[in-house]
Parts: sequence; structure tokens; C-alpha cells
Amino acid sequence: MNRPVVCILGRPNVGKSTLFNVLTRSKISITEDTPGVTRDRIYAKATWLDHEFALIDTGGLDPSSDEAFMPEIMAQAEVAVENAQIILFVVDGKEGLTTVDREVAAYIRKSGKEALLVVNKMDAKESEDHRYDFYELGLGEPYTISAEQSRGIGDLLDATVASFPKVEEDDFRDEIKVAFIGKPNAGKSSLVNRILGEERSIVTNIPGTTRDSIHSFFEYEDTDYVLIDTAGLRKRKKINEKVERYSVVRTLRSIELADVCVLLIDATEGVSEQDSKIAGYAHDNNKAMIIAVNKWDAIEKETRTMKQFEEAIRMELPFLNYAPMIFISALTGSRVEKLLNMIHVVNNNYSLRIQTGVLNDIMNRAVLMNQPPSDKGKRGKLYYASQVSARPPKIVLSVNDKELFHFTYLRYLENQIRAAYRFDGVPIILELRNR
Ligand code: GDP
Ligand code: GDP
Repeated sequence: MNRPVVCILGRPNVGKSTLFNVLTRSKISITEDTPGVTRDRIYAKATWLDHEFALIDTGGLDPSSDEAFMPEIMAQAEVAVENAQIILFVVDGKEGLTTVDREVAAYIRKSGKEALLVVNKMDAKESEDHRYDFYELGLGEPYTISAEQSRGIGDLLDATVASFPKVEEDDFRDEIKVAFIGKPNAGKSSLVNRILGEERSIVTNIPGTTRDSIHSFFEYEDTDYVLIDTAGLRKRKKINEKVERYSVVRTLRSIELADVCVLLIDATEGVSEQDSKIAGYAHDNNKAMIIAVNKWDAIEKETRTMKQFEEAIRMELPFLNYAPMIFISALTGSRVEKLLNMIHVVNNNYSLRIQTGVLNDIMNRAVLMNQPPSDKGKRGKLYYASQVSARPPKIVLSVNDKELFHFTYLRYLENQIRAAYRFDGVPIILELRNR
């Protein structure tokens, strides 16, 4: 099931980043970091009462300007409405409502998007008197909080998770959901047009479904595919593509919806910081991954060029070591068919399940060859392994003491599994449990 996306929206200075920090620091747990993944403060994976979601701060406008930034805040609102399941619309309880708040609220109401009205800076109980002023926004019950003093946060989170879609209806059960991700100008729209432009049957208007027109459907070698968010790609550049924050929000949404993410790297530019951030998001979401190095036609090649490129890219994206790499040209169509086949294979790998007996044979052999580490005379013991889920594959390792199983040893175990099974393109989650 896809994680819901929760966007924090509001004018500058109302306390969005304070709220983001409070939500990520306190009751919400951010899952552990992977070395090499670039982080920023826009986005965090979060859980509350067994609900997982992605929290995004859509802010980032210059707080010095005021009503002059109306177009920008509307663009920000549009991004939030397009991409979030739930919007946390934050207003300043001390300052009271402004024209901008009213405009944004009207826009959210019109969109029909699920939103919670968050009245921040209600530091003391007595300021509750004003809360009735905020009903006029027509967004229902205001949630009064103080982000700074962590007041009202629990109630807000309860309400947030209560508004999540009850059953995530998966319209594309039978199709492989593919997201092309990468920084602007990597060639995403060119690739989509190339794929859809060739003589593949494009499936449209399937009756009885609520298929989103923003996706594209096609069939290739008896398999159905959905390209996520392609409308945005094909008639893009309408709003602020330059604002990196907005493209991040869109990218996150696409990743959430996808089974397989194809990260497009511009061969003429190499891996940029933005590329590694985007790669980090996809990795964080445990999606099946392919690295496609695009614009390969534009590179002058000698015998070892491809190998050198691969090494350089792998060095920049060490956490994606499981992702196969392919060198393509959206312009000439070179290896685009091969990429489609790769997507198919990687998607199958994503569903793979290892029988418990076989898995334990692999683990026993691995432990014999290379014992778990010990600390102060206590040696790590691995009792039992079982794959508890697929897509992504998650394997639980029952051990005597989790602390003894460091990252490097887990990496070793993972490599043993990979040596025995085709998990190309698939992240494997190893979870330790003390017995
Ligand atoms: P953003 O621009 O919306 O991200 O706002 P910030 O999170 O940067 O906060 C703007 C200012 O409001 C900062 O000076 C914060 O310390 C302050 N602030 C945030 N939350 C609260 C709160 O709950 N109470 C009070 N009194 N001040 C707050
Ligand atoms: P997007 O922003 O990721 O959707 O990138 P576009 O598809 O708009 O491509 C950005 C630019 O790169 C355009 O000028 C494309 O013509 C060019 N481009 C895309 N793919 C290739 C390719 O494979 N080779 C070359 N030489 N140029 C490409």
C-alpha cells in the first residue's frame, strides 16, 4: 500500500518548519539513515499509531515579502493540492487571519482536497478564545497548537491519520507502475514521448475505473504498464519548475505511486546533488530501482567509457548498489526497448519470495563462512530467518542481540542472499529481532 503524503502549507512565518521539526523530532520516528543518502528538511518519513506517511513542508518562500507573493503561495498551494492526500494548512493564531489565508483557504476548499486547519502559536490556554475566528475559513474544526511548546500535537496527528483514505483502492493492480524520476532536463518527457510514440497500443479510457488522466497506459509484450504522472511531464513547465522544492514534492508523489522507479541521469552532466537527493527519496521508499543514464548519444565514446561512467555514478550513489544501470538515448531510442525489458524483470524480482528452508540454508552457510561479530566476549547468534513480505522483500532475522549485528555484517548477509537469488533492482530490507 502506498504511504499517504501529508503536506504542510501556509504563509511564511506561521511556523511551518517549527511544526515540521516538532513532528519529526518528537512522537514521530524517522527511520534510520542510510549512509550516503542526502537529506534535506523538506521531507521526512513518519509514523503515528501504526500509520506511516510522508511529511512534506511545501514552504520555503521568502518571509520578507508579504502580500506581494500571492502568486507564489498559490503555486505552493497548487503543488500541495495536486500531490498530497492531506493538507495541514497552518495559520498564525497570534496574528490572526490575513487576506492571503482566506484566498488559500478558498482555493483548498474549491479543490475538494482533504485539509486540516492548524492554528499555530496558541501558546497558552487563554488564547483559545480566538479559535472561533478561524471557522470562517470553512475548513472545519480548527486544530489549535503551539508548535514551539508542542501543544496540541497529539490531537493533530490523531486527526491527520484519521483522515487518511480508509482503503487505498489500487486502480492499477494488474499494471506495472513506473515513475521516471530525475532533475529537470534529464530527459524524462523525451523518454515518455519516445515510449508512447512508438507503435505500442496506448490504453485509454478504460470504463468503470477512476483512472487518473495524469497517467499514461500502454502495453508491451503482453504486459500492461502505467507511466505515473506523465501528463505533468508532457505539458510541464506551467508552474515554477525552477523552484526545486516543488519538483521535489512532485517527485515524491510519483515515487509513492510507483512500483519501479527509473532514475534518469544526464550523461552530459553526471550526478548532481539534486540527483542524489532524488535517488535518496526513492531508496527511502524501498522501491524497485533502475538507473538510466540518458543522452548517451551525446557522449564521445571509447572502449572503456561506459565502464568509467558506471564506476563514477556508483561512487556517487553507493546506496543504490542494487539498481542495475543502463545507458540510453531518449533522442535516438537507443536501448529504450531494453529498458522496458529491464523494468519487467526488476518488477518480477520485486515480487520474489524465498522459501524459509532455502533462506535458512543460505544464512547458515553465510554464518559458517563468516561469523557474526562479537563484543566483550559475547558473540552474535543468528537463530532463524524468514521473509515476511514481498514488494519490497523484507526478511526478519531472529538473533540473540541486535546490537552485535552491525551494518557491515548485514550488508554481508544481504550479499549472500543476492548471490543466490536474482534481486537485481530490488532493495532488501533486513530487520533484526531479539529472540
Ligand atoms: P515558517 O516560515 O512557516 O516555516 O515559520 P517558522 O517555523 O520558521 O517560524 C516562524 C517564527 O514563528 C519563528 O520565529 C518561530 O520561533 C515562531 N513560532 C513557531 N511556532 C510558534 C509557536 O507555537 N508559538 C510562538 N509564539 N512562536 C512560534
Ligand atoms: P525533462 O525536464 O527531464 O522532462 O527533460 P526533457 O525531456 O524536456 O529534455 C531536456 C532536454 O534534453 C531537451 O532539450 C531534450 O531534447 C534533450 N534530450 C532529452 N533526451 C536526450 C537524449 O537522449 N540525447 C540528447 N542529446 N538530448 C536529449
